[in-house]
Amino acid sequence: MLKYLPKTRTDIFAFAFTLGGIHAVLMLELFFVLPWIMDQYQPYSSMKYYFHIFATTFLYINTIGNLWKTIVTDTTNGSVVLPSILKPGWKFCSACEANSPPRSYHCGICRRCILKRDHHCTFTGNCIGFRNYRYYMLLILHCWLASVYANVMNLGFIWMIIGEDVLSLHRLIFPFFAWVMRSIDIYTMIKSFVLMICIGVSCLLTALLGYHIGNVWRGQTTYERSHRIKQYDLGWKENLKGVFGEKWYLTFFSPFITSDLPEDGIDFMTSAKYESPKDM
Ligand SMILES: [Zn+2]
Ligand SMILES: [Zn+2]
Repeated sequence: MLKYLPKTRTDIFAFAFTLGGIHAVLMLELFFVLPWIMDQYQPYSSMKYYFHIFATTFLYINTIGNLWKTIVTDTTNGSVVLPSILKPGWKFCSACEANSPPRSYHCGICRRCILKRDHHCTFTGNCIGFRNYRYYMLLILHCWLASVYANVMNLGFIWMIIGEDVLSLHRLIFPFFAWVMRSIDIYTMIKSFVLMICIGVSCLLTALLGYHIGNVWRGQTTYERSHRIKQYDLGWKENLKGVFGEKWYLTFFSPFITSDLPEDGIDFMTSAKYESPKDM
């Protein structure tokens, strides 16, 4: 269990922010925003209520489930014995004292070589690579959906907090300052703080998700994108399978659906071989 936990101080802080942020927004929606909305629109239809409970549960299970799978999935070569001879495209990793396959890179924080390494994600405290990229992508997708959904739900609640006056927007943007100035009480300050986190995270996730969708679409890792390496682009459908597996279209619904990856993380199909298989 210990090996899955974040290792550096920055990772511990960022991971605590991830878990704390998810649960703070969830609590705000369930115990303050939804009851407030139901109170405003009397009589509130039970269909609408159950829809919100279902959507929230779905997004929560997928967020936490994908976060869990991102962390516990082994991103290294595992029990596969790496060859002692340096094959073409391979490199020697002096830290691991082993030959490392193409697209694999050493992570100084995780202290091991990660297959098809994308980046070290400080918010999950782990590296993102060949085997957990699916879970990472669906974690940020569900987190983004949840934050946008929460922001839409929060609009009326925010309007109420700022006293239906745009000039009191500081109550939302600078809640601590507004509390010190006795413009709001301490509970409203906490709610404003969580509302602001939700807006900020939503903006950040829009950029992050857009960037990674581009990578998946083109069959690139972050390193390959920055170095203009395009040799693994097999077309959008094969690229999707390379990240989400053969049942890529089902992975959105649950992190617990098995979807086998077509490759082993060590040998990768290149676009040149894919287009003219007779040369293999
Ligand atoms: Zn290494
Ligand atoms: Zn790492």
